[in-house]
Order: sequence, then C-alpha cells, then structure tokens
Amino acid sequence: MSHRILLLGAPGAGKGTQSAKLADAYDLEHVTTGDALRANKDVETEHGTPRSYMEAGELVPDPVVNEIVEQALSDADGFVLDGYPRTLEQAEFLSSITDLDAVVFLDVDEAVLVDRLTGRRVCESCGANYHVEFQPPEEPGVCDECGGDLVQREDDTEETARERLAVYEENTAPVVEHFRTEGVLETVDGEAPPEAVFERIQSVVES
Ligand code: AMP
Repeated sequence: MSHRILLLGAPGAGKGTQSAKLADAYDLEHVTTGDALRANKDVETEHGTPRSYMEAGELVPDPVVNEIVEQALSDADGFVLDGYPRTLEQAEFLSSITDLDAVVFLDVDEAVLVDRLTGRRVCESCGANYHVEFQPPEEPGVCDECGGDLVQREDDTEETARERLAVYEENTAPVVEHFRTEGVLETVDGEAPPEAVFERIQSVVES
C-alpha cells in the first residue's frame, strides 16, 4: 500500500532527514518545495523570482508553491511532503487536491533549532545533510556518501535562521494547530536521536 504522508515542523526540526528515510523505506516520492525552489531560484514568475524571498528567509508566494506541489503530486502514487504547507492558504489548497494518511509534527525547541540550522552543512552534489558538531562527516567539508563538497546554505546564517523561525511562528504554527484541531496530528519528539525519531514516525505511518 502506498502512503501519503505530511511531515510538519519548524526549519531544522529534521523534516528533510526523516523524509528522505521515509521515501527510501516505503518507495515514496519525496516532495519538498525547498529543494524545488532552490533548483529554480532564478525562474521568473508573476511574483518575481524565488531567490529574493529565500535569501531573506521569507515565504515564496502561495501560488508559486501551490503549482509546484500540484504538479509533483499529480504524478506521485505515494508521497512524503516536506516543507509544505507553510500557510493556512497552502493547507486549504492541499486539501482540495489530495487526502493524507498521516500528519506528523516533529516537535523541537527553538534554542535547539537555531543550533541545528547554523551548524548544518549540505552536500553540494547529493544533498546529504551533516552538522559540524552533532553529525560531522568523517573528513571535514567532504561528503561521506559521495565525496562532494559540504557547504552552508545561504539561509542558514544566524540572522536568516532567526527570521525563518519567526516566519514559521507567524505563518506555519497555525497550520500545525489546524491539523491538531482536525484531530489528525501525531506529535513526535524531534529531539530524540534520528533513528529513534524514524521509528516513531514508522509506527504512526503503519498504525
Ligand atoms: P526549506 O528548505 O524548506 O527550509 O525552504 C527554504 C526556503 O524556501 C524557505 O525559507 C522559503 O523561502 C522557501 N519555501 C520553501 N517551501 C515553501 C513554502 N511551502 N511556502 C513558501 N515558501 C517556501
């Protein structure tokens, strides 16, 4: 059976890491608006290019991300959604195009989020995630998986990370509350070790 999973959580909560594991384990499409936008930063839309919003830590306008998701879901059998919806309008749009089997919220304290974001390093070639302190690669700056260069995302500087967390509180925390009110939200302690978080998510997905 294919799954339709939504992972919610603040920037740095571990959505990307856990989504990749879920996609692998259940053979799902990993639908992530952040990666899609990073790959299309300079594409002109009616609302300008994504780059200016992303570099400031602001949200890209709803119509742009809604279109990305609609397209991605139209050819996906099962999927795990990561980084979307981030506004109530996006949540409404999502419910108009698909049903969900599991909605999981990764709960992580704000102080932990800032440390995770500012220490995060990403492989330029394969996208694997590291942390300079909590999950260092064997050789500094080099990806264990593919030997690619590890870089810091432009929006993972302390100032932009804090702005992204403020944007999350204002726009996306209400989305979490929306699913909580609907009675479908499963909260998982996102501060547990990644393997333990994954096991908890699996038990939600398989229940
Ligand atoms: P992420 O990789 O999920 O942290 O996203 C990086 C950036 O892409 C965000 O700070 C936003 O500027 C933009 N972005 C990603 N997903 C969305 C979304 N669902 N709605 C609006 N902007 C988004």
